[in-house]
Amino acid sequence: MEILRELRLSRKSRVVVLTGAGVSAESGVPIFRGKGSMWENPKARELARRAGPPWNTRGTWEFYEWRRGLVSRCEPNAAHITLAEMEDFFDNFCLITQNVDGLHTRAGSRNVLELHGNMWKGRCPKDGEIVDLPKTPLEKIPPIHSCGEALRPHVVQFGEPLDPATLRAAVDVSRNADLFLVIGTSGVVSPARDLPLIALKEGAVVIEINRDPTVLTPYVTASIRGKAAENLPKLWKELKKKL
Ligand code: NAD
Repeated sequence: MEILRELRLSRKSRVVVLTGAGVSAESGVPIFRGKGSMWENPKARELARRAGPPWNTRGTWEFYEWRRGLVSRCEPNAAHITLAEMEDFFDNFCLITQNVDGLHTRAGSRNVLELHGNMWKGRCPKDGEIVDLPKTPLEKIPPIHSCGEALRPHVVQFGEPLDPATLRAAVDVSRNADLFLVIGTSGVVSPARDLPLIALKEGAVVIEINRDPTVLTPYVTASIRGKAAENLPKLWKELKKKL
């Protein structure tokens, strides 16, 4: 890849990564849109019909328990593991994810900004407290907070705003990135898709890895077409030669 010849990289380089559902596809977690999406499964469609506001309902938790059960049988893949390895190498490394499956932290990533929350946590709609719910199946659905209120999944639903502090942190690191990797996201969900564009505008080299072309493809510095679990380890091997 031409860009790798020109790219200057050191341990001090500020490296930012944005991941989407595609990074977990090879772990067996279905993506959201396109071929192989969750909605190809009739069970997902049926359960999703019963999920909805105010989000702390039995119907919502039945859908989430199905998703949590599915993810509990999945393992981090080579892409998740490579990202955890990269974090050990750079002094400034931040992983921003739209995923709610928790596979990045299971792979060992530490500095992770979860833009859309985490399916292994619940949130109290009354006092906002976030509670770990690491086991599935849950003893009771909906799970009940210590204050007596039914918890909702700690996941941003369509139309809901992102946590302002998490979004601010993501914008800040994107603005200051030297190298920005965009992996396995269709780039149609805002504001996540604006982050690589912010990085580009501020002069970062932006490399996309995706099975298919995306709305971001025309703008990025370079695109690698293919599976994340195959192509990220290869890219990392090349990048390491420059360090
Ligand atoms: P998306 O489903 O819109 O897009 C997935 C992208 O991944 C597509 O561009 C597809 O071409 C690409 N892809 C598929 N398999 C790939 C592979 N093996 N390697 C590389 N790329 C691959 O996902 P999104 O952009 O993340 O947006 C979906 C929204 O749904 C997000 O907000 C996210 O929170 C949520 N979601 C999360 C999960 C999860 O946590 N794993 C799963 C489904 C949906």
